[in-house]
Parts: sequence; C-alpha cells; structure tokens
Amino acid sequence: MVVDPVCHMRIREDEAVAKTEYRGKTYYFCAVGCKEAFEREPERYTEETEDHEMHGHCC
Ligand SMILES: [Zn+2]
Repeated sequence: MVVDPVCHMRIREDEAVAKTEYRGKTYYFCAVGCKEAFEREPERYTEETEDHEMHGHCC
C-alpha cells in the first residue's frame, strides 16, 4: 500500500490511476487530478511538515 500524497488516500501501487517520479521517488495517485495537483506544486506535498493544510478535493 502507498499513500497518495495529495489527498492521503491509501491505494495499492497496481491500482493507482497515475504515478510520477519526483527527486528519485515514485508517487502514486488515486486520480489524474491528484497527479496534476502534485505536479503543479510537488514541494508542497513532499515537504515533511506538521502543517496538514494540504488536502486535495479530487475524491
Ligand atoms: Zn487522490
């Protein structure tokens, strides 16, 4: 299982609708809209912060 970094939904790698590579890591997404949001602001979704105001609204 992996976690969609945009909406934090748990998905299986083989069920991911979309995936992308960023800084050598592969990220999986539940929807194309999540991937697009990630690619617009990848640092927003990959930064390890206490701030969780990063929930997407794709699903
Ligand atoms: Zn998602």
